[in-house]
Amino acid sequence: MSTTWQPDRYAALADAFGGLVRADRADTVLVHAEATVALEAVATSLAAPGTTALNLVSSPYGTLFGDWLAHGGTTVIPVTAADGRAIDVAEVRSALRAEPGIGVLAVVHAEVITGVVNPIDEIVALAREHGAIVVTDAVAAVGGLALNPDVDITVLSPQKALGGLPGLAAVTVSPAGWAALAKRADPRAPESVLSLTGLRRRWLDTGRVTIPGIPSTLDLSAAEETLEAVAREGVDARIARHVLARDAVRAGIRASGLRLWVAEDAQANSLATTVAVPPGIPAERLAARAGSLGAPWTEGIGRTHGKLLRLDHYGARARFDAVLAGVLALARAAGELGVATDPGAAAAAAAAAWAAGVL
Ligand SMILES: *Cc1c(COP(=O)(O)O)cnc(C)c1O
Repeated sequence: MSTTWQPDRYAALADAFGGLVRADRADTVLVHAEATVALEAVATSLAAPGTTALNLVSSPYGTLFGDWLAHGGTTVIPVTAADGRAIDVAEVRSALRAEPGIGVLAVVHAEVITGVVNPIDEIVALAREHGAIVVTDAVAAVGGLALNPDVDITVLSPQKALGGLPGLAAVTVSPAGWAALAKRADPRAPESVLSLTGLRRRWLDTGRVTIPGIPSTLDLSAAEETLEAVAREGVDARIARHVLARDAVRAGIRASGLRLWVAEDAQANSLATTVAVPPGIPAERLAARAGSLGAPWTEGIGRTHGKLLRLDHYGARARFDAVLAGVLALARAAGELGVATDPGAAAAAAAAAWAAGVL
């Protein structure tokens, strides 16, 4: 792979990221760092005293985003999802009604940590009615779920469902998103790598003739390869493969006798499946046993620690063998620890669901 980067190649890479959102009029800027840095850039660029944001929290990522906004002077109103559930649209509606000054709504589209997908289309529609711009963390969702093209600011990165590496992120910004950023920018602030308006000035406003900063060309080249592979597969086919993985894991877990953490199918995302740890079983022992049987079930993070295990099935892991091994290993591991499970039925149900999706 060539690691010589000129502005036109850099612009094409940005456009390839932007194309995944399918927004008509959005620009795409690249952030030369992991996705968390891009999220911090969005939050610090949007934060300003005298502004109010509705922050929908369904994992520690949402909490952190709200903390960044609040640190920058924004009044942050949180709406928190219940365990095992997506953000409640009715709660969003009443929070918006209660506070006419909300100018920004922030939400994580899909959560790898909990396995939840938030009802992004309804949330965006409510924000539109209210006149608030919408920011989404689509780091996990992109490539695994259809994105909402009307979102104003979308953060993307290659390392989850796109199957790439974490060294680069992209942010799409709509005209309304730029207007909100411009209104909130502090004219006295020094130049900052976290400033989206700074990126705009140094990249878009120059007519994309000068690469802003000194990116890691290895990371650019890796991301380019990732997006080429996604284009070869077709993003819709890739999304369908992820959805199939979800359906097969969920069918298998249901048949095993274990309990899905996200009870409602419509609230379960296609990136990771979470399973409730059976009462009386130490989560770490269950994870270790499943691991030794060949499947990487990992423990919950933050509030869900000890309560759930999760299987990532995004990127290269959205495949039948990985899904089948995951279901079988967890059912067997739980059985060995004294939980009544049926590994054979679990494997058969996962296989049947996969077959139903591809045949
Ligand atoms: C993985 C993930 C991130 C963090 O990405 P990093 O590149 O590891 O910083 C942020 N948000 C969501 C929803 C994620 O799944």
